[in-house]
Amino acid sequence: MRPSPEILAAARQNLTDLVAIPSVSARGEGLERCAQRVEELLSEAGFQTAQYPGGVGPFVVGEVGDGPFTLVIYNHYDVQPEDPVSLWTAPPFDLTERDGRLFGRGSADDKGEFVSRLAGWRAFRSQYQQPLPFKLIWIVEGEEEIGSPSLVRFLGERFPDTKADLCWWEFGEVDRSGRPIILMGFKGILAVELQCRTAKTDLHSSLGAIFDNPLWRLAAAVSSLRDASGRVLIDGFYEDVIAPNARSAKLAAWPPFALEDLQDETGGQRLLSGVDASSFYEHLNFEPCLNVNGFHGGYGGEGAKTVLPCYGSAKLDFRLAPGQRPVRIAELLRRQLDRNGFDDIEVKILDAEVLGVRSDPLNYSVEVGARLLEKWFGRPAVIQPSSAASGLAHPFVHKFGATLFGAGLTHHGAMLHSPDENILIEHFENMIGFSAEFFAALSEREIGVPRVSAND
Ligand SMILES: [Zn+2]
Repeated sequence: MRPSPEILAAARQNLTDLVAIPSVSARGEGLERCAQRVEELLSEAGFQTAQYPGGVGPFVVGEVGDGPFTLVIYNHYDVQPEDPVSLWTAPPFDLTERDGRLFGRGSADDKGEFVSRLAGWRAFRSQYQQPLPFKLIWIVEGEEEIGSPSLVRFLGERFPDTKADLCWWEFGEVDRSGRPIILMGFKGILAVELQCRTAKTDLHSSLGAIFDNPLWRLAAAVSSLRDASGRVLIDGFYEDVIAPNARSAKLAAWPPFALEDLQDETGGQRLLSGVDASSFYEHLNFEPCLNVNGFHGGYGGEGAKTVLPCYGSAKLDFRLAPGQRPVRIAELLRRQLDRNGFDDIEVKILDAEVLGVRSDPLNYSVEVGARLLEKWFGRPAVIQPSSAASGLAHPFVHKFGATLFGAGLTHHGAMLHSPDENILIEHFENMIGFSAEFFAALSEREIGVPRVSAND
């Protein structure tokens, strides 16, 4: 089902129009206008639409069809701030074509993803005019780039009893060799700040002969939490980790790219002990980890300053496996610090909202998706059990019971959140073709197989 020139031209126009609306959630700007345009697009495409208030930007919901199978598509219309504008080759909110690419803020994240799917939907509907034999719920939010603060509440209120079979996640990736990736999971996250105060004000460093130092305290506390292999030394930390099932484990046993390539690309050289070319991909997929994001305190300016600082802080994040609950991990951290003799160190929770999820790759619609991605992108799809990063997918996976399906057009050099964000025109068109045939495949009878819930 190759999309017609009219469908492609309309998609390009839709993307131009959406990119032109600077819907920057961090500044609370352009969100109503963008939501309005998204709702119009869904409504013109045959969806029953409505808007619902969010904290900053409204939610747009489009619904159509009915049947034993329910697909939820999740996208967002807000974007990251465009600064620094001077580093953009062309104005960030003018969709600009260069070298086979379309540049503009939101061209990939997430307006390009949304528009390509919608154009695929139109191509599908131009051929398939019967009532849709499955239920499609399209949820487009305006607060993703500020951490989706209203999403869990909204889904709970608007969809108290909704169950779904598949959640087509807001983005998906195409790797550097052009292979489409299907993401089946995300890690959870807990972000905290450790704070230590040892005196009323900064003191003369000669007093270091008698008074302890908050940066020493923090350094000791932090280093008591992890060993050289990256293993977290908090009692009970691994207790609730759900191990990958045999199918996920098998997928991760064969890395789709070499550790060396990742090292070349990132310059990352020092591996944790126990991580090697054969195990790194399993670590990325499944291992929880503890990062120090920053240490702050004392004097960092030019030259020496012989000071004994009175205060220091360290920001940490934990990437968590399915099963681990961020709030519980924060409690265990507190307990461990006390046990290690650091009861003077405060733990401030910065983020404990995102739980890890991982869906079973053995799923008919994922199989169909993989086959169609291969057809449209010309390379076999890689099914990845879990991203190494985090995404707020648990309301869809745990509450709706949906299998996560992260497929999209975000390519290796997409410059997400950066100047010159872009997509490849070829991927945009492939994604339109893929979407059209994916919707068509979901309309076939055999897709309405009984719902199996196999999520971690
Ligand atoms: Zn983003």
